[in-house]
Parts: sequence; C-alpha cells; structure tokens
Amino acid sequence: MSIGAHERLNLSEEEKRTIALTRAAELRKRISDYTDKKDSIETGFDLQDNISKNRESLLRYFSATEEEWNDWRWQMSHRITGADMLKEIFPFSGGRCEEIKMVGARYRWAISPYYASLMDPGQDSDPIMLQSVPSVEELDETGYSDPMAEEFTSPAPCITRRYPDRLIINVTNQCAMYCRHCQRRRNIGESDSHRPRGSMVAALDYIRKNREVRDVLITGGDALLLDDRRIDWLLGELDSIDHVEIKRIGTRAIVTMPQRITPELCDVLKKHPPLFINTQFNHPREVTPESKLACDRLAGAGVVLGNQAVLLKGINNDPHVMKKLNQQLLKIRVRPYYIFHAKQVKGTGHFITSVEEGLAIMEKLRGYTSGLAVPTYIINAPNGYGKTPLLPQYLISRDRGKIRLRTWENRVLECAFHSS
Ligand SMILES: *Cc1c(COP(=O)(O)O)cnc(C)c1O
Repeated sequence: MSIGAHERLNLSEEEKRTIALTRAAELRKRISDYTDKKDSIETGFDLQDNISKNRESLLRYFSATEEEWNDWRWQMSHRITGADMLKEIFPFSGGRCEEIKMVGARYRWAISPYYASLMDPGQDSDPIMLQSVPSVEELDETGYSDPMAEEFTSPAPCITRRYPDRLIINVTNQCAMYCRHCQRRRNIGESDSHRPRGSMVAALDYIRKNREVRDVLITGGDALLLDDRRIDWLLGELDSIDHVEIKRIGTRAIVTMPQRITPELCDVLKKHPPLFINTQFNHPREVTPESKLACDRLAGAGVVLGNQAVLLKGINNDPHVMKKLNQQLLKIRVRPYYIFHAKQVKGTGHFITSVEEGLAIMEKLRGYTSGLAVPTYIINAPNGYGKTPLLPQYLISRDRGKIRLRTWENRVLECAFHSS
C-alpha cells in the first residue's frame, strides 16, 4: 500500500503507522550513499592534530609566539610568499619548488600562516594547497582577464554597477591569501593597496546622488583588510544616506585569516545594522575551531552570515563534499547563499567544471538535505549582464489547469491547479 491511497480507504491507526514506517525506511535509504561517506569527508575540526603540528612548525620557523599567531597584523606581515620558505616548512620536492617559482614570477601569491597550517602536503589533491599554492596549470593562456567586463561597468571610482538597486564599492586589492582561482587576478597586481580615501568619497557621492541604490556591497580584494576605523567611517557614511537600506561586506578573512575577526572589529560592526557578511568557504576542511569562533563573534554582533562557494574541479565538484560543506556551514551559523560556476578567467581554467556537474550537485541537495543547506547555483552571464540561476528541471510540462512535476526523488506527478 502506498501513500495517497488514504483518501479512498478507511485505515486503522496501526495500518497508517505501518505505511509511515515503510516510507521512513525508504527515506533513510535515499541518503545511504551519503551516510556511508559522510564521516570520511574530514572537516578542519577532525584534522586538529595535523593542523596544530603545522602551527608549531610555522611558529618555530618564524620564532613567534601563540599571541603573535592570534594577531591578524602578524598573520598579514608573515604571509608566505616564497617557494623556499614553503619548502622550509613543508616537504615539497625540488621540482615542485621550481614550478612554484616559475608561476610566481607571472602571478603573485601569498598565504597567511593560518591558512598554510590547514595544509596536508602528504595528500595528493589537498583542497587547501590547490586553492593557495601556484601550479603550472596557471600558465595556460585560455580564458579572459576580465570576462565580466568589470572595466566597463564602473560609473564612478571604486564602483561596479550591474544591477538596478545595488552596487559594489571596491575598497582594496589586498587579501590574506590570493586564491589560485581568483576571478579578479587582474586587480591583484604586484603590490597591496587600499583605494585612497578620495576615491571612496567619490563613490559615496555617487551613491548619495542615485536614490534607487538601496543595497551597497563593500568588497575587494578583502574588505575586512581595511582597519577598524576606516570600516567604521565607511559604514557610518552609508548609514547617513537615507535610501541605503542594507550594507554588505565581502570577505574571505573568516576562512583564510579568522584572527581578523576581533572583539574590537565586532564592536564596530555592531554599530551599523543591518549588515550582511558573505564569505567563501569552499571545502569542509576550512571549517575549523578558529573560523567557528570568528562566525560566533560576528553572529553575536548581529551580523547575518552567508557563503558564496565557487564550484572548483578537484576541490568540491562532488555532491557529497558540497553537501557536507553546506551542512557544516549551518552548524557555524553561515547560510549557504550561492554556488558560483567558475568563470573563464585566464590562469584558472584547470578549476572549471562542466555545468552538468553543478546541476548534478544541486540535484543531490534539494530534498536530500535541509532547504537551508541548498544555495542557488549561479553562472555569470558574459559581459557583466548578471548572475543567472541554473536549476535542475522540476517542471516537466504545463497545460491548462494541470502541471507535471518531477520531485526530488524523481517521481513524475501530475497536479491540478485552479487559475483565475
Ligand atoms: C554579485 C553582485 C551584486 C550582488 O548580487 P546579489 O545577487 O544581490 O547578491 C551586486 N553588484 C555586483 C556588481 C555584483 O557582481
């Protein structure tokens, strides 16, 4: 007997319970492939032994103290930027070192000691190394330097405007770690620089004059690499503009240098609600006690946290890994917001997956886990024409008064509706 037959039959309580139990067993089986795999996908919490060993060798290498380690300015000024330095700390082969030097001459790289401590050089395709250590594949010339035509969407200094009611202020090109998959590599250049205050004033002026702008996103680079006073000033200026309803900050520091999220920074952020912070966790290994503490502090300051993952070949293009990532994020109060399909940026081609892989991941999220753990899969339209959602097809056909649906379990069902 199946669900649905109930309308016609007069079933006893016991018969109903039997049906529910059968269905529950069926549901449990639906995720058995994940239940079997789940525990073998390690998080940063599971790998604490390895991570503390790495931290100790990094502290020894820099002759530094735990206190310095926990200071984001120390993390910034001790970023690992040379292959020889990396080799001192981790056992890289000579060949790999040469490779890093060659690619480094073309594209800048830097890794915060904290992010480096998450590495597992013994592992073949370590997701932390893949995101942070240069590889020869970056020398492949396919792709574009600016696929989103950002250079043509800047109506005022620091501003990128691609939508009717919201825009970006780009405040710095600096990051704690330069992601190997960075979509804005062309801005990274050879040196770190925050945008001058004068340009930010011009950007604020543009926002003040354009009353339809109700949502302002401060990003970079990494917006949280500005100091607390500059952040306080910028958020305060935005608060003083009547038509700006919400503010957002884009930062990967929560993942790559959680030491940045100090109680002092949180005191500043607390003064400027409503404030949303979107970060970028790409793998469960990045979820650590330190990143959790950073999220706890931000949530405590009333900040609403979201995640914008990037779909990356060899890192998270696997339905189980992506599901585990999103479930772990909810545990640290970060709501999965987007999964971005990687853009055709020169030097990042080796990370690009097929759209089919992205859709297969979405297919394995919806219904199989909490709706809260299901982000929107986004591909960016060429030339900066905007984020475009991609979704497995659930609406099979539409007819007068009737639609055919495909459910998350692949049941095709017809359902009648009344339209006016
Ligand atoms: C991504 C982006 C936004 C924000 O888009 P949402 O879909 O609202 O998160 C705003 N402006 C620009 C230029 C962007 O690239």
